[in-house]
Amino acid sequence: MAVSFSYHPALVSGLESGARRHIYFHDDKLLLPAPDAQPWDAEEIENPEGPVFLLGEVDGVSCSVGSLKQTPSGWTEVGLRDYLLGCDEIDDFRIVNAASQLLYWLRTQNFCSRCGERLGFNEKDRGLRCHGCGYISYPKVSPCVIVVVHRGDEILLARSHRSFSKLPAFSCLAGFIEAGESAEEAVVREVMEESGVLVSDIEYVTSQAWPFPHQLMLGYHARYVSGDLNIDTTELKEAAWFKVDQLPAVSPMKTIAGRLIDAYVAKFR
Ligand SMILES: [Zn+2]
Repeated sequence: MAVSFSYHPALVSGLESGARRHIYFHDDKLLLPAPDAQPWDAEEIENPEGPVFLLGEVDGVSCSVGSLKQTPSGWTEVGLRDYLLGCDEIDDFRIVNAASQLLYWLRTQNFCSRCGERLGFNEKDRGLRCHGCGYISYPKVSPCVIVVVHRGDEILLARSHRSFSKLPAFSCLAGFIEAGESAEEAVVREVMEESGVLVSDIEYVTSQAWPFPHQLMLGYHARYVSGDLNIDTTELKEAAWFKVDQLPAVSPMKTIAGRLIDAYVAKFR
């Protein structure tokens, strides 16, 4: 069943906030209070580990996020990736994605990068304020491009060494956008660096936030222009052209890679 979600307007402590929904993590695992419960169904736990913050409202009810020193007896630990790929609703994906990214950021941003003082909740917006110099730190988002390179009825797919997937699935080429670079320039550079192929006619398709740990994936289709496959073996295990009607196992539809591949293949259905 679909749930509604809205962010809390400021970054404030979730302790004693009156929140009646709570999401907890232990290490990198999402905790479910019961095997069939939703992650935001947890009751408040005393003595959390590290910061607890107010995420927003889930179905109109305030929801806090924090991490626990240990998983309470009877609760279930779920890998974040397994949850995101298995959850039914786009809203569930969005809530857990936001909770995970903000918690990761809070746990890794303890001190001011300008003066070294401790950071605290800002309470004016979704930032952390330095009590020493007033510097405000905002959640880190790292933009990446991810691209289906096409050549008529063929697409270029690859398997990476650092694939999160346990399955031997093929996916799209992808990489981080460099400082000062447009997304389209990043597409051309990444595809050339990873595969030796020149692309053009870069077309934006869709985007997806991806909490490993804080990426924003911008998804494109790009037309092959020239070049033989010459892969960067430090990044990729293998890459190959596949006919759209003879694809190997590819990333699932919950991922932007799966949706980008499907959007191109759909033109031939
Ligand atoms: Zn400072």
